[in-house]
Amino acid sequence: MPFLPYGRQSIDESDIEAVAAVLRSDYLTTGPEIPAFEAAFATTVDAPHAVACNSATAALHLALDALGVGKGDLCIVPAITFLATANAALYCGADVIFADVDRDTGLMTPETFEAALRRAGGAARAVLPVHLAGVMCDMPAIASLARAAGMAVVEDSCHALGSLDADGRPAGACAHSDAAAFSFHPVKTLACGEGGMVTTRDPRLAAHMARARSHGVERGPARFNRSEGANEPWWHEMVQLGWNYRMPDLNAALGRSQLRRLAVFAARRRALAALYDEALAPLAPVVRSPAGAPGDPCRHLYNVRIDFEAAGLSRADVMARLSEQGVGSQVHYIPLYRQPFHAARHDAGPLPGAEAYYGRTLSLPLWPGMADSDPARVASTLGVALGV
Ligand SMILES: *Cc1c(COP(=O)(O)O)cnc(C)c1O
Repeated sequence: MPFLPYGRQSIDESDIEAVAAVLRSDYLTTGPEIPAFEAAFATTVDAPHAVACNSATAALHLALDALGVGKGDLCIVPAITFLATANAALYCGADVIFADVDRDTGLMTPETFEAALRRAGGAARAVLPVHLAGVMCDMPAIASLARAAGMAVVEDSCHALGSLDADGRPAGACAHSDAAAFSFHPVKTLACGEGGMVTTRDPRLAAHMARARSHGVERGPARFNRSEGANEPWWHEMVQLGWNYRMPDLNAALGRSQLRRLAVFAARRRALAALYDEALAPLAPVVRSPAGAPGDPCRHLYNVRIDFEAAGLSRADVMARLSEQGVGSQVHYIPLYRQPFHAARHDAGPLPGAEAYYGRTLSLPLWPGMADSDPARVASTLGVALGV
């Protein structure tokens, strides 16, 4: 039996050919693959603008920077997320207030957002909802609370590529947000090696982020401040502070090739999740399938809830037993306020929903290359490991 990691990329010959074609071309970075990938991605998620960069961490930073988040500001981030969501705010000089999450979904809710806003003294600059595992937050309600408080909204959509909200709109369409960030790390729904994308409906925000990804430089003569620039072909203007957050053309070619199979990947994730739901039903109530929400998630993680206490086993023991039988698993995530760096800066924790979610969660293998028989194999291995 091959070992099943919790997540894995799916690379085929067309991906390899797309990357090889870039290696034979003139550009290894910032060539024609970048605008082609951006245009295809924007169309896919129904957003007018997409800016490619070298990670979702960079995407989140570019969005908050373009929205003017800075020193002294507060940003609200759910306690259950990857480190990068909070780090992006810290890069801007802002401080982070952690919102609690629903104990079953791990999602920030309108109620937990409001409670965090009260802890922030009623004023914060931005909120970063995270669509954990691909299940989308209640964006209409969160956005209306945020707008009433004069806040910017940046969606961390890293888990949600291929997901649809309750109105059938794809994650990344930014129907209720200023911007949405995506990751193309190999365990995510599309793989670029490393890579990120930020989508927005606001053309000024898009232009700001496109400049900031490459040192804040303006290269279009029509937009130069210095008129003589038009006659000096070497002339370029740094008009804002930026970074080297450029995506290489090699990665963009891989991402664009993968994007052609997004519908296949998403259908496979949905089918495998349905097979898991069925195979795990007999293990209730000790094991429960991932909690849902309105909308149609394309699950990035199959995050079951396990009553380890009832099973009389620690999570570490269960993970070790699964691993011995060739089944990988992972925990998403440790509440951020438990990290030493944050613990030294904040007094927010513990938050009851985040603690309850964290205490029971376990992510089982979910990636498009898995066989139809794998969810049943994982479920029976889990049943044996737990003795249920
Ligand atoms: C993966 C991930 C990120 C960071 O993505 P990178 O591309 O690795 O920078 C941020 N937030 C969430 C929720 C993620 O899963």
